[in-house]
Amino acid sequence: MNFDEYCILLLEANGVIDPVASPFVITDGMGLGDDAVWWPSVWQKRPEPHEGIDLVQFETSSGLYDVMRGFRIISPVSGTVVAICADFLDKTVWLNPDTQPDVLVLLSHLEPRVTPGQHLVCGDAVGFINYAVSNVPSHLHLSVLAGDWRSISVLDWQGVHDQPFAHFVQPSF
Ligand SMILES: [Zn+2]
Repeated sequence: MNFDEYCILLLEANGVIDPVASPFVITDGMGLGDDAVWWPSVWQKRPEPHEGIDLVQFETSSGLYDVMRGFRIISPVSGTVVAICADFLDKTVWLNPDTQPDVLVLLSHLEPRVTPGQHLVCGDAVGFINYAVSNVPSHLHLSVLAGDWRSISVLDWQGVHDQPFAHFVQPSF
């Protein structure tokens, strides 16, 4: 599944029936490697280059809509939940796809409805977006980490920043 196919599946899971072909609006700060923040902020730039893609606002044939509290997050892959950690807004779920042993898919800023060790089928519920925090609007952060992730000592955001074993790539599944 490519990134746009997942986005459309994700919107379908939220009752959106008329998304455009590439539905999420990706502006400066929302893409992989971007230095900027896209929300109103006093930060000059992100503490790290952006590790994935932020899904904030989507387009349908009737207009633009924001991802809101209660937005359902589904799995883009069949795979196993290998970790859940805190992130700066809520929680991150780490998924290892069945067909890609050296890949992790990270779904962030959500309230999980899964537990470590659980196996998911593509399209299964992972959790939902919670309240916006401070001045950061509700959104899904999506990362794909490729490499020898099993050598990372702790699967959390601190652990993933200071290690040479795996790196972030453009999300595709
Ligand atoms: Zn992000």
